[in-house]
Amino acid sequence: MITDRPLTDWLPITKKEVESRGWSELDVILISGDAYVDHPAFGTAVIGRILEDEGLRIAIVPQPNWKDDLRDFKKMGEPRLFFGVTSGCMDSMVNHYTASKRRRSTDAYTPGGDASFRPDYATIVYTKILKKLYPEVPVLIGGIEASLRRVTHYDYWEDKLFPSILKSSGADMLVYGMGEMPLREITRLASKGVPFSSMRTIPQTAVLVPKSEALPKNKNWEDLTLSSHETCLKDKRAFAANFKHIEQESNKVRAKRIIQSIGEDQLVVNPPYPPMTENEIDTSFDLPYTRLPHPKYNKRGSIPAYEMIRFSINMHRGCFGGCSFCTISAHQGKFIASRSEDSIVKEVDAVTKMPGFKGYISDLGGPSANMYKMKGKVQSICDRCVAPSCIHPVICSNLDTSHKPLTEIYKKAAAHPDVKKAFVSSGIRYDLLVDSYNKKHDDSLDEYMDQLVSNHVCGRLKVAPEHTSDNTLKVMRKPSFKHFHEFKKRFEKANKKHGLNQPLIPYFISSHPGSEAEDMANLAAETKEMGFKLEQVQDFTPTPMTVATIIYYTGLHPYTLRSVYTAKSKHEKKKQHLFFFWHKRENHHEIREKLTAMGREDLIDKLIADKKRHAKQEFVKQRKKQKQRKHSKRR
Ligand code: SF4
Repeated sequence: MITDRPLTDWLPITKKEVESRGWSELDVILISGDAYVDHPAFGTAVIGRILEDEGLRIAIVPQPNWKDDLRDFKKMGEPRLFFGVTSGCMDSMVNHYTASKRRRSTDAYTPGGDASFRPDYATIVYTKILKKLYPEVPVLIGGIEASLRRVTHYDYWEDKLFPSILKSSGADMLVYGMGEMPLREITRLASKGVPFSSMRTIPQTAVLVPKSEALPKNKNWEDLTLSSHETCLKDKRAFAANFKHIEQESNKVRAKRIIQSIGEDQLVVNPPYPPMTENEIDTSFDLPYTRLPHPKYNKRGSIPAYEMIRFSINMHRGCFGGCSFCTISAHQGKFIASRSEDSIVKEVDAVTKMPGFKGYISDLGGPSANMYKMKGKVQSICDRCVAPSCIHPVICSNLDTSHKPLTEIYKKAAAHPDVKKAFVSSGIRYDLLVDSYNKKHDDSLDEYMDQLVSNHVCGRLKVAPEHTSDNTLKVMRKPSFKHFHEFKKRFEKANKKHGLNQPLIPYFISSHPGSEAEDMANLAAETKEMGFKLEQVQDFTPTPMTVATIIYYTGLHPYTLRSVYTAKSKHEKKKQHLFFFWHKRENHHEIREKLTAMGREDLIDKLIADKKRHAKQEFVKQRKKQKQRKHSKRR
């Protein structure tokens, strides 16, 4: 993308750019598995801009070559304070492999979508290289890969438990969650000359402390000791039980400090910072991003992940849904940190001035589109809460689910003179929008639905019921499918009112813990009856630090320690996935066989009955009967 902005508008990524700023030394060097896109949706840019805001001289080394003579790791020299390492916006293994562990041929975070620009387990590989080249320089790891691998975790790709990534990588400190607050504190201390070995009580960080040393003291924190890494290796039950504590402490206002023994060390995971205030999150989003990829990539093709969010706006962070398969709350927290209306409207204006903007905002969203500004009515109740979800198994009576502030922002964005349409493409929580589930809602839902349906749907609306079986939905921490039926009716009514015909696109997952092949057959029949031919479907992938992953590995639910069935073999998973595609003729024979084997012949007609053939068979049967009748009369 060609712009006439000076190169100094971006953070430097080459030695020449560093020198052109007159810097002979850098304070911090960030190593990232992603290409550098200077946009608030890309973690490396956020951290880079925060450090710059702290007055530090920083440079980014995006996607360094880890296979050659390591010149990319050497070109910027040694930073004065520390190296910061991240795999990028995704866990490198999720980025590289499909649910069936097949290597992907593209990478959305690389120019041209090219694959192979980052190693597997990127955080570990980069950190080990840095520790070899610069053993004296501290390495700080962060981003989703480090964050979700902070304690003993299951790695699906190696099919075994890994210890904290601090241990596997040799890094000095780990920042989990969204890094702004801890990063500011770390850099302030580091700038004052405090060594990393003395920074052991910074919230939202984790460190390894040798067992020969006393644990650092903080009188405000209680400790919670998990089963050791070694115990987890031997005992799946102990590993499963650990997770309940980890999840609860990650989502508490006043969390405990987590301690876990690993060999000769103790892992210390300090409690998180409180959710960011409006002012703090605005400050982060209002930093001077160019909102563009670095010009170095101009000739290498577009970056698919950037193209997706180029004209979009993220309005809040966090998610209180607590879905079992999702990592958002483990990384961003359960409490919603929302930007101010002013900051969002200012960004809408900035987007309209971007090169290539044609009047369409692609998303006014967030991790779940319709949680903006939602929080507990009485904060002191939330302060004591340990629930992993505010909306499952029922919507908490203390949760304020008003959609008013969100509707106001939609209206303001739509009213901008240069905006033709401002779409909502992030998934919405449909359960918040139905009377049967959100029983105590205020009077804001009708207006929200009207505004959404009439102005903000880009052709089709994405929603994620994820399954139709109540048993599976319970394991998923999702509401019963009957509420989706109600939402469909409501959505269609709103469409009719506005003379529109916008379809719903439901998302579903197969082979999630709790889902049996028969549940998938029922799913296929029920969604067919509703008029859906499914397209947005996926097979469950066990990613680190989710309830569903713990069940997948241990066979136990971490909260009850009771067994839960999970389809694990290729054969079982394929069988479940097959039912999504009942409409493909080539699957009919297999589906018929499977339904017969499970004694569900009743679904054969519903799902794959060939009407013509059925009518012909019926005709032949009737003729036969007639002939028999005639014959017996004659006799
Ligand atoms: S009290 Fe209710 S609203 Fe507050 S955190 Fe707990 S579940 Fe959520």
